[in-house]
Amino acid sequence: MTDTRAIPWDRPAPEQEGPPSAWSLFQEDLEALGCPGSAQETFKRLHRPWTWKDGAPDLGSSIRRWLESVADLRLPAIVERQPSLDGSTKLALELADGRRIEAVHMPRKVRNPRVTYCLSSQVGCAMGCTFCATGSMGILRNLQAGEILGQVLALMVELGPDRGHELTLVFMGMGEPLHNLDHLHRAIRLMCHPAGLGLGKGRITVSTSGLVGGIEKLSKLEPRPLLALSLNATTDEARSRTMPVNRVWNLARLRQALDDWGLKRGEKFCFEYVLLAGENDTEADAVRLANWLGDLRHAHNLNLIPMNEHGASDFRQPTDDRVQQFSDWLRARGCFVTVRHSRGSDVQGACGQLAKGK
Ligand code: SAH
Ligand code: SF4
Repeated sequence: MTDTRAIPWDRPAPEQEGPPSAWSLFQEDLEALGCPGSAQETFKRLHRPWTWKDGAPDLGSSIRRWLESVADLRLPAIVERQPSLDGSTKLALELADGRRIEAVHMPRKVRNPRVTYCLSSQVGCAMGCTFCATGSMGILRNLQAGEILGQVLALMVELGPDRGHELTLVFMGMGEPLHNLDHLHRAIRLMCHPAGLGLGKGRITVSTSGLVGGIEKLSKLEPRPLLALSLNATTDEARSRTMPVNRVWNLARLRQALDDWGLKRGEKFCFEYVLLAGENDTEADAVRLANWLGDLRHAHNLNLIPMNEHGASDFRQPTDDRVQQFSDWLRARGCFVTVRHSRGSDVQGACGQLAKGK
């Protein structure tokens, strides 16, 4: 195994300094900090945006003053909105220290009111994947749990829906969520809290480039979200070239981690495969991909994502015919394939194109 000491994601990412976000705090934390009123009620008022007034929790002036003295009561501020022709909206959000992250609001087209949010977990990313715009920024810092949840609340207030049960969350924005597992999981616990948004864990998907140590930890946590894996190559040689994480945890080790995850009834993995013209789009790749998936190929969704081109990478998107051909090769081998024509690509809001934060 490679010496991991020199690898950026083996070190914790920088943390934000200053007071905690008010949305990072559980009821017990509010009590321990000396909440002058009912900690339970304060938690509810903070975490249920449908009870808010004018875009802010309705707290009462003494609780508000106290909270402001121990925590940061600001939500990430929406500083840019770019609506796309397909109905999705890319948002730039500014954090308390002026750093920027991005999130995408994607309403379902059908009558059903459900909305998917694509969320960030870090400012930048340490993983260095060569096709990814976020990867070219390097890692600036982790998001706090309250900032991760703050994205959700800010989007709900600005664009809806009003209620948690209409939401689906995917951590496919900026950052490697498993490189920020403590804050990420705290945010998930807060989001799933019945006195808060009350989200179901099956509505939250965490996408990873394959940080096996993080996958192993996450597999044992409750609530346990769904897992998406970004594969993007079918040999160790090719994957190590475009995704440095593979130099430490190779394809065989990653496959082992999935077997060890212990899928429960009703749970599915999601596999993502960014199609890079001339790099990973041959029939031999399709065969290897189907073989690597093995018994997971039938029931688990394999998402093909044609490369979204951007200035920080020379990779190109394959032609539509090639994308179709690649999915046919996989389907012929029993894979359950969908092609994700990333939403919002006309405003550079699609996967891996999220504009660089400050
Ligand atoms: N860091 C996590 C989640 C964020 S990236 C991960 O890598 O899984 C979300 C998805 O966008 C990943 O599947 C990644 O492979 C994909 N992606 C990155 N750059 C892309 C690009 N330029 N075009 C299309 N998809 C891209
Ligand atoms: Fe990070 Fe994911 Fe981009 Fe790789 S694809 S650099 S892990 S955000």
